[in-house]
Amino acid sequence: MESESSSESSLEKSMENVLHLQNSDNPGLILVIAPLNGTNYLPWSRAMKIALCAKDKIGFVTGEIKKPSKNSPMFKKWRRVDSTFWESNGPLLYNIKREISLFTQGNMPLMVYFTKLKKLWDEVQCLRPFLVCTCGNCTCGASKAIADFDEDEKLIQFLMGLGDHYDHVRNQMLLIDPLPSASKAYSMALRVEKKKDV
Ligand SMILES: [Zn+2]
Repeated sequence: MESESSSESSLEKSMENVLHLQNSDNPGLILVIAPLNGTNYLPWSRAMKIALCAKDKIGFVTGEIKKPSKNSPMFKKWRRVDSTFWESNGPLLYNIKREISLFTQGNMPLMVYFTKLKKLWDEVQCLRPFLVCTCGNCTCGASKAIADFDEDEKLIQFLMGLGDHYDHVRNQMLLIDPLPSASKAYSMALRVEKKKDV
């Protein structure tokens, strides 16, 4: 038992290193991973997947975090993390998509609202990577069409959650053809927010 807990903490150490790198790569992303206990499986698994995926280098898959030998007390824990990564993403994807659909600005400053929404989009992308065209350097235009489609979705999600006092600018944005990107819409809304403050 003693040796298991010390091995577990050493696995946690290496996970922390992975997460630490991630944090310095993307200062906007704050990851707090509580140890797995009997009741926090879904949030734990979500945080773990996002952290591993966002780092774009999955330690368990690349071998960066070495698979312990079967006799090692660490093996059980390693396998748990490893299988967590490979299991179905369905429940997580459902949770995140649901969160996005219910997410509104409320009393949040625009910047906070947009940053949180972007984080949710990143999580979705993590669990369900973008479709890419297989024609090679994409001369068929499919890749651009897919990216545009995705961008339009984000714009609509952003506008749907935006507070009522942005009604005017929201209507303006929706009339622009082609539709602006979510980031463009965000900066347009920021200008409205700034004017209101003056
Ligand atoms: Zn193509």
